[in-house]
Amino acid sequence: MKTEPVQGEPAAAEQAGRQPVILVADDEPVNLALIRRRLEWEHYRVETAEDGGQAVEAARRVLPDLIILDVMMPVLDGLQACRLLKEDPATRDIPVIFLSALDDTDTKVRGLSLGANDYVSKPFRVEELLARVSVAIRMKLERDRLRQRAEELRRSAEAASELSMTDALTGLLNRYGLHRALQRELAEARRYARPLSCLLIDIDFFKAVNDTYGHAVGDTALAQAARVIAESVRGSDVVCRYGGEEFLILAPETGLEGARALADKIRLAFSARLFGDAGRVFPLTLSAGVAQLAPDESGNDMIARADEALYHAKQTGRDRVEAAQ
Ligand code: GH3
Ligand code: MG
Ligand code: MG
Repeated sequence: MKTEPVQGEPAAAEQAGRQPVILVADDEPVNLALIRRRLEWEHYRVETAEDGGQAVEAARRVLPDLIILDVMMPVLDGLQACRLLKEDPATRDIPVIFLSALDDTDTKVRGLSLGANDYVSKPFRVEELLARVSVAIRMKLERDRLRQRAEELRRSAEAASELSMTDALTGLLNRYGLHRALQRELAEARRYARPLSCLLIDIDFFKAVNDTYGHAVGDTALAQAARVIAESVRGSDVVCRYGGEEFLILAPETGLEGARALADKIRLAFSARLFGDAGRVFPLTLSAGVAQLAPDESGNDMIARADEALYHAKQTGRDRVEAAQ
């Protein structure tokens, strides 16, 4: 056996920006020491175990990048240890190389069918083991990188889609977000034959706020109005900024009278406070139209009826709630 130390290429370890960790399990102390030393020359960090039970325990604790398992070991043999490692989601994806004096095809096939990646027969040339280790580590680190990248992409896609459904000024859902929520609420209401209502709220004479105090104060007041609305509803209600100073609420499991009561509650919450910022505060009132989803009606038709009711509330004096028939 050639024992010349071959200084390993910086390879996988440094490319990955960290030192790969290899767990070696062998009940033969001389073998264990030899393998450890050679792997450490190659800049791997090495953990050792002297039987299959220790190997499984150490693998769960350390989560190494590679496990080298001797097949013939006390407590648990390499095959049994491999089966446990492959059953555990935490260790399932760690590559395994079997090491054994058994050169029979049966054991190799069993090892590989248990999910081992490779097999090295004893006696082996250390160079062969190192070459196989290097390949396994490189593949493992590459897969880790791809997974990490996929996870980053998934997160940024999620953040982007959340942002694209949210109104920047108020933090409420925008119309796209409403569209998604409406599909979901319609499906639920129909499936369980439960009532669904909507409230369309429009702030009265809001143009005058901008004209009197400026657009920035108008923005502040809109954000405050959104908060008042959001704080008045149930967690299961969906609140959306429907337009400039218009808000739409979807109220699941709520009939027409419940929707009217909710709209009145929000109307009273508006009249109980002032809007604006320090030194420039003013009252705001709102008008609202409410409608309950009729059988076989589309979500848009329900909203259109709430809009008609809102128009009626505006026509008949504002600061009031009208229910659609
Ligand atoms: P009413 O609804 O009672 O009939 O009167 P209104 O003055 O509220 O109605 P109108 O629809 O004529 O005007 C709405 C105003 O809301 C016009 C616009 O300047 C203001 N507005 C809409 N979006 C925003 C916004 O994002 N920021 C600010 N500051 N103002 C907005
Ligand atoms: Mg309006
Ligand atoms: Mg208005």
